[in-house]
Formats: sequence, structure tokens, C-alpha cells
Amino acid sequence: MSNSLKIAIVGAGVIGLYLAWQLSLKGHKVFVYEKRSEKDFGDKPCSTLVSERIRDFIPIEENTIENKIIGCLINFPEKTVRLDFRPIHLALSRAGLTAILLEKAKSAGAEVFFEKEIKGIPQGFDKIIGCDGGLSHIRQALKLPMPRFRLGLQLFERQEDDYNLAETWPVNSGFIWRIARGREVEWGILADKEKALPEFRKFLAEKNIDFIADQLGQPIGLKSAIVPQGMVLPEEKNITLCGDAAGMVKPWSGGGLIWGLKAACILLETFPNFEAYHKKTSRFFAFRIAKGRLADFVVHFLGQKAPFVLPSRIVYDNDFPIL
Ligand SMILES: Cc1cc2nc3c(=O)[nH]c(=O)nc-3n(C[C@H](O)[C@H](O)[C@H](O)COP(=O)(O)OP(=O)(O)OC[C@H]3O[C@@H](n4cnc5c(N)ncnc54)[C@H](O)[C@@H]3O)c2cc1C
Repeated sequence: MSNSLKIAIVGAGVIGLYLAWQLSLKGHKVFVYEKRSEKDFGDKPCSTLVSERIRDFIPIEENTIENKIIGCLINFPEKTVRLDFRPIHLALSRAGLTAILLEKAKSAGAEVFFEKEIKGIPQGFDKIIGCDGGLSHIRQALKLPMPRFRLGLQLFERQEDDYNLAETWPVNSGFIWRIARGREVEWGILADKEKALPEFRKFLAEKNIDFIADQLGQPIGLKSAIVPQGMVLPEEKNITLCGDAAGMVKPWSGGGLIWGLKAACILLETFPNFEAYHKKTSRFFAFRIAKGRLADFVVHFLGQKAPFVLPSRIVYDNDFPIL
């Protein structure tokens, strides 16, 4: 193919591998660089709770689904509000999801290099896409600002449970969640960096959660990662960012997979014109980010201050809520 381009993708997370697969199918020569090893690259802390919209992007194999989640209970101090998810959500195995994408990317012709940490901007490529997560080196090398972020912590309790509702408890600057995953129960918190661990420990102690602690009382197996909150895109013609690297994350839930995949689709539609991608993506997400922040503020404000105003049950599109 005469207009085949040589493309570097930094980061073999869900978004990097999805783009590698799709750009290879278009006939481009794609090289993916991942700093982690092939054994543990799919082990990023992430609940991988996604709406069934994931199937519009990736063929999900049944054995990667750990549980089907039809909604979420928000436990305010004086009232519990039930959100009925439309579409329903799937609690997926993160490692299983990345394994599907790695196989797709490789069989479409992408070359994936593990244990290759990129420092600075890779040279010798027509196009460079930073999919290297919330702390993106590509974003830093372009001297772009770090988006606002919160910290996500995750822990597993050995308990079989296939309850089909997730639960959340609002805390200072964020929320705690519980997701039954069949063979185990996941607990997590998304909150400001300094508050996340103390809030989480206090909550787990109050609920008598049977986690295994070290000598200092810290939960063993606790995983953490930052969750960016707000969009950052470069103005370059040949370098861009996608997924967490560009802060494409739902501000209310911290979920970034469907938004990152949606942004990846805009990148594919407009490829190789990164300026068009930046314009179209900003237009698509800016309003949704503002609307999501406002909806989250209103629900949490009312939940704390005037819970009687909130209905007990709300049908809710968790990817693109309607105000
Ligand atoms: C605790 C927690 C729970 C979450 N739960 C959900 C959820 O339920 N649903 C949801 O939709 N989202 C969730 N998220 C958010 C979700 O994990 C991210 O939005 C998503 O993983 C972003 O994918 P990505 O491919 O953009 O980045 P990442 O998954 O972060 O992948 C980036 C990759 O780049 C690699 N990398 C980084 N720097 C370099 C470098 N210099 N050179 C080479 N490689 C590099 C990393 O090793 C990594 O493999 C959660 C996040 C956290 C922290």
C-alpha cells in the first residue's frame, strides 16, 4: 500500500493495543513499545467494569466476563439510591481483555516490544501516538500540563459472590466501591492522593473486611494507580495522545475504557490528520466532561444535604448520562 505509514505507539494498554490492531488492519506498519514485561503488562490496577458498549469495539470472549452488573447502589448516609445501568455492565478480567487485544494486534501485523521503556519522543516514525497512561512520558516530553488526577486503590477479598449490583459509598473527594466478581470481591477507592489510603483503611476497618495486612497494618495486595481527570491534547501534526495519556476519563466514575476507545475511533476516522482528531475529540468530550462533572456534583450534593429530593431508583447511562 503506497500511503502506508510507519507508526510508533507508546504503551500496550487497552487503548494502545486497540489502535495498533486497527491501524495495522488499515495497512500501516505499527510498532508498539511497552515498558512492562509480556507476563505482567495486563496487570494494571483496574476494575475493568465496562458497559456492554465494549462489544462495539472488541469481541469479548465469554470466559473474560467475571460477572454481569446490572446497576449500582449509592449508599448516602441517609438514603440508598439505585442506578439501573443501561446498557448493563460487564466485570471483565483485565488480563483477559489485554490478551484478546494483543492477539488481534499481532495477527494484524503489529510488532509489539515488551520491556522497552520510551524516554523522550521516538525518532524515525511518520506518526507517534502516546498511549502511555496517566503519567504519560510523551505528554511530559511535549511539555504539556499534567491533568488534574485522583488516586485509585484496589483490593480483593477472598469471598465467592456473584451479586449483580455494584455498591458505592461517597467519601471526602471521591467514593469507595464494592464489586462482586464471582470468585472474589473487589473493594476500591477513588479519591484525592493524600486522602485515599487513610479513608480506605478506615472504611475497611469499620466494615470488618477480612483483608490480609502486613506488620504496619497495610493491606497486602493493595494496588494503586492514578486516574486523570480532564483532557490534554497537543497541537502537533505528527504526535498525539489517546486514552489516559490524554485524560479521557469519565470525571464521575474514573472509568476510562469506553471513553478512551471512543477517542481512539475518532483518531481512526480522522487518521492521519491529527489536527482533525484534536478538534473533533475536543468537541465530543468537552461538553460531556462539563455535564458529567455537574451531574456528579448535583447528585452528591443532594445525596448528602437533601436526600429526600432524590428518587430511590434512576435508569442511568453510565457512559454518556443525560442530565
Ligand atoms: C483502581 C482503578 C480502577 C479502575 N476501574 C475502571 C473501570 O472499572 N472501568 C473503566 O473503564 N476504567 C477504569 N479505570 C481506568 C482505566 O484503568 C484506564 O482509563 C484505562 O486503563 C486507560 O487505558 P490506557 O490504555 O489509556 O492506559 P493504561 O492502561 O494505563 O496503559 C498504559 C501503558 O503504557 C505503558 N507505559 C507507560 N509509560 C511507558 C513508557 N515510557 N514506555 C513504554 N510504555 C509505557 C504502561 O506500562 C501501560 O501498559 C480504573 C483505574 C484504576 C486506577
